[in-house]
Amino acid sequence: MTSKLKDKIKKENFQDPIEIEGNQIFPGQDLEVKIPVAKMPSDTRLYMHTFIYRSVNKGPTVLILAGIHGDEINGIEIASQLNFDKIFKNLKCGNVIVLPLVNVFGFNNFSRDVPDGKDVNRSFPGSSTGSLASRVAYIITKTLLPHCDYAIDLHTGGASRYNYPQVRYSSKVEGCTELAEAFNAPLMIDLPLIPNSLRRVAKDQNVKAIVYEGGESERLDNLAISCGKSGILKVLSHFGMIDLGMLESKNKTTKISETFWQRSSKSGIFIWCKSSGDLVKKGEVMGIIKDPYGYNKIEIKSKYSGIIIGHNNASIVNQGDALFHIGKDQNETSF
Ligand SMILES: [Zn+2]
Repeated sequence: MTSKLKDKIKKENFQDPIEIEGNQIFPGQDLEVKIPVAKMPSDTRLYMHTFIYRSVNKGPTVLILAGIHGDEINGIEIASQLNFDKIFKNLKCGNVIVLPLVNVFGFNNFSRDVPDGKDVNRSFPGSSTGSLASRVAYIITKTLLPHCDYAIDLHTGGASRYNYPQVRYSSKVEGCTELAEAFNAPLMIDLPLIPNSLRRVAKDQNVKAIVYEGGESERLDNLAISCGKSGILKVLSHFGMIDLGMLESKNKTTKISETFWQRSSKSGIFIWCKSSGDLVKKGEVMGIIKDPYGYNKIEIKSKYSGIIIGHNNASIVNQGDALFHIGKDQNETSF
């Protein structure tokens, strides 16, 4: 571990226990803590299952969260596979805290949000007496973030929109570019912090946070899951927490600082011929929209040159719907 990294580690005394919900977890120990979130109308209590893994050696604490949006299951699968594979059981240094499913309500209801319709990722820092979304956010803000140096928040595209595996970070927050580069996703997108998001409140607590996006909601996607798993492992390897050995190889990452949405000019049946990960030139046909009777068909031509970072998998679209999310390469080497 570099001396620079040691300076960044939050806890003064690594031998101190991490305390979560009345449980003390000492160096060398692992524990699953079920943090109570709320009760359902049926009187069923819901918990956030939190897994804490501690090495005996001093190092950073990395928080891995998934399912803040309850229907985004790729992240949940990434976290649960890493848990199942016991990847965090033998850390060389530091701590890992894993929440495979934050929004239990949304997961049970196939929904992004909690039952009151609010978005947890727009409810930070939250409040212990606020809305349901605000209470979920508050648990993360008060119970978990104070222990952490880094956070990786796992997401997918929402509402049938597929996101090519990508890390979203802010180059204006110290340490986030390093974290995003270590993750080594196919795409790195520099985006400002969204008010009341986890990334925003993490910055206030001096936690370096990135968001990983891969695939679409309610659908498992092998590429998104494998990129997410390898990204987390590469981050832990970067900080000296695990030894990746032969798996350490770096893949190409395209850095993007400007993105554009191309929206539908007509309603109808949407059939794409270009999709996420494809390079496109301005004027290139990316798909068609046609009416259901066979009268008319229009081509959708790209308004920009760049790489498709996300596309809509909906087969029926309305005028104005987002069809393609296009990113401009920061280095403009690919176009
Ligand atoms: Zn999300």
